[in-house]
Amino acid sequence: MEKTLKVIIEKCPQNHKCPAVKVCPVGALTQEHFKAPNVDLDKCIRCGKCSNFCPKNALVLE
Ligand code: SF4
Repeated sequence: MEKTLKVIIEKCPQNHKCPAVKVCPVGALTQEHFKAPNVDLDKCIRCGKCSNFCPKNALVLE
């Protein structure tokens, strides 16, 4: 089964500019104010860069 990227909102402190937004090579992550980022699953290529990068493990590819 194809993996999908999940944003685990409870793990994101939602108090900072998400650095993972810039890590995504296809611009699939966006952030509104300091909220947990949103993923555009039509753009996401499931590369895992953001999930490897997020220090809070709030982005999970599974
Ligand atoms: S898995 Fe890769 S393509 Fe998908 S949102 Fe994360 S960095 Fe972007």
